[in-house]
Amino acid sequence: MKTLRLKDGKADICRAAEILKNGGIVAIPTETVYGLAASAFDGDAIDKVFIAKGRPQDNPLIVHISDMEMLEDITCDVPNVLYTLAEKFWPGPLTLVLPCGDKVSKKVTAGLKTVAVRMPSSAVARDIIKETGLPLAAPSANISGSPSPTSAEHVLSDLDGKIDAVVMSENSRVGVESTVVTLSTNPPRLLRPGGVTAEQLKEFLPDLVLDSAVLAEPEKDKPVASPGMKYKHYSPKTKILLVEAKSDDFANFVNKEQNCGAICFSEDEKLLSVPHIVYGKADDDASQAAGLFEALRAADTLSAEKVYVHAPQKSGVGLAVYNRLIRAAGFEVIDL
Ligand code: AMP
Ligand code: MG
Repeated sequence: MKTLRLKDGKADICRAAEILKNGGIVAIPTETVYGLAASAFDGDAIDKVFIAKGRPQDNPLIVHISDMEMLEDITCDVPNVLYTLAEKFWPGPLTLVLPCGDKVSKKVTAGLKTVAVRMPSSAVARDIIKETGLPLAAPSANISGSPSPTSAEHVLSDLDGKIDAVVMSENSRVGVESTVVTLSTNPPRLLRPGGVTAEQLKEFLPDLVLDSAVLAEPEKDKPVASPGMKYKHYSPKTKILLVEAKSDDFANFVNKEQNCGAICFSEDEKLLSVPHIVYGKADDDASQAAGLFEALRAADTLSAEKVYVHAPQKSGVGLAVYNRLIRAAGFEVIDL
């Protein structure tokens, strides 16, 4: 299949919408990462998304909406707190898990009775949804298991020839996937950290609890609240290990290792004598999130046997960065 390269202006947004209305799959920009979109009502289109990504069938998709009216089409019995959260955080990088309406394809929800919903803040993404007139299921537009795509080039390097089109626009501003919170449990549960922080959410959801899968490997053969959290994820080909340490200790440790590289903070650079890539500043979690997946993709260019990553603080958006990194590292964490 030839993958069309579309621009993000009005004419190409209409072409993307036409493809989506006809059951095609199109990669679209969002503020979190690029998403691979298909109509949430069209099971055959959803099948194509799973096949293009090589995504396990039991990992449900997030449905993207452009306005609150669309919410009524895909959910039922929505709790009142949803409206408070939507008022505060939508459009934006917050996904809410709600009771599912019956128009949504079972393939989107992997057969669950709940559906995950988000209204993206990216104007291009919302224009595409509006023009299509349909809620769009859109997982990250990468091959399952590889680092998520924060640019159109990342999408093409994974999916060129496997999808109908890509809308080529700006790099994703946030750089990590949305925060996922389920409102279908009591108390509400944070299933995946992201651009909206646990600290921000607690103001409106004081009893919010962190799912155990956020900071640790889910136990084998036990059911998980968020199926996506059980997979190794976000990994380049090169082996990644996460190191929790102060800047000096990180550099001393890494400099003594053979055939290794590092993914580090800008503050570490002057101390390192091994090949390295900077992913952000030590005290700026937004910069870490924005640079994370680009750095993980570039890890293979270091020609190293293993790459040590300097771990971020586990607060604010840093919690999301840490959550992605323990998965990229297959849960191998070195605490110095
Ligand atoms: P991705 O599409 O790659 O951003 O991943 C979507 C994430 O949302 C995965 O971690 C899923 O497990 C999670 N998710 C989607 N739908 C649900 C749902 N109904 N209940 C719980 N988690 C969900
Ligand atoms: Mg993904």
